[in-house]
Amino acid sequence: MIAEASSIVPFTGAGISTECGIPDFRSPGGLWTRNRPIPFDEFVASQEARDESWRRRLAMEPTFAAAKPGRGHRALASLYRAGKVPGIITQNIDNLHQASGFKADDVIELHGNTTYARCIGCGKDYDLAWVKLHFDKIGAAPDCAECGDPVKTATISFGQSMPEDAMRRAAELARHCDLFLAIGSSLVVWPAAGFPMMAKESGARLVIINNEPTDQDDIADLVIRHDIGDTLGPFVGN
Ligand code: NAD
Repeated sequence: MIAEASSIVPFTGAGISTECGIPDFRSPGGLWTRNRPIPFDEFVASQEARDESWRRRLAMEPTFAAAKPGRGHRALASLYRAGKVPGIITQNIDNLHQASGFKADDVIELHGNTTYARCIGCGKDYDLAWVKLHFDKIGAAPDCAECGDPVKTATISFGQSMPEDAMRRAAELARHCDLFLAIGSSLVVWPAAGFPMMAKESGARLVIINNEPTDQDDIADLVIRHDIGDTLGPFVGN
């Protein structure tokens, strides 16, 4: 299918990054399964929630900082370099597609990016070192130095509106590809999970690579219920 396709759009979830040491959301033992996600309205309303959110994120920093692209990321980057992949849609927030060689403009991040921080009021960006410095100094989540509003990782939390431009560009890619690869996603987080279906309805072949069943297996042309690194490894360096 990869050989026959002229426009391949990968759509990735947390499963592509587990071999890089970043736990996924729902697998047993995943760090996120032990912590209830903090919804956006709670983050905005409560200093305590903001403190807890940053405490968790800073505790994860050594893991994110050490993570390097895995075989799945590198295989997709090879297909991108070969001109087969116009862009990639990801639910991941770990920056590993950019690190594997995708231009930032060609990575459509549906849920933002956790490797930097952003003021929820004026949108000013901060690096995590700045946040850590302030957190350590004042013992609490910092506010924006410009406007005083809370600073949050540049991710989309539950209850926060989706980034319009990313949603529009993802729909464009899903509608115009001939092969859509849904990789390492349980396909339960909406509206992101709508893109595989959208691609299929627009005439693309749909392949799902995930080591457990998903709700969309029935509509896929091929389901590979196997490890992502092992499955995509042969495409690294092509
Ligand atoms: P998910 O945790 O709901 O699903 C991941 C799926 O990948 C699971 O079905 C799991 O069985 C499968 N999987 C894990 N490792 C695999 C492997 N090596 N080979 C094959 N399959 C494997 O993830 P999701 O659908 O992306 O939704 C989670 C949400 O949480 C996303 O919206 C994302 O923003 C966020 N998140 C991101 C990261 C990250 O950036 N790396 C990590 C955790 C959570």
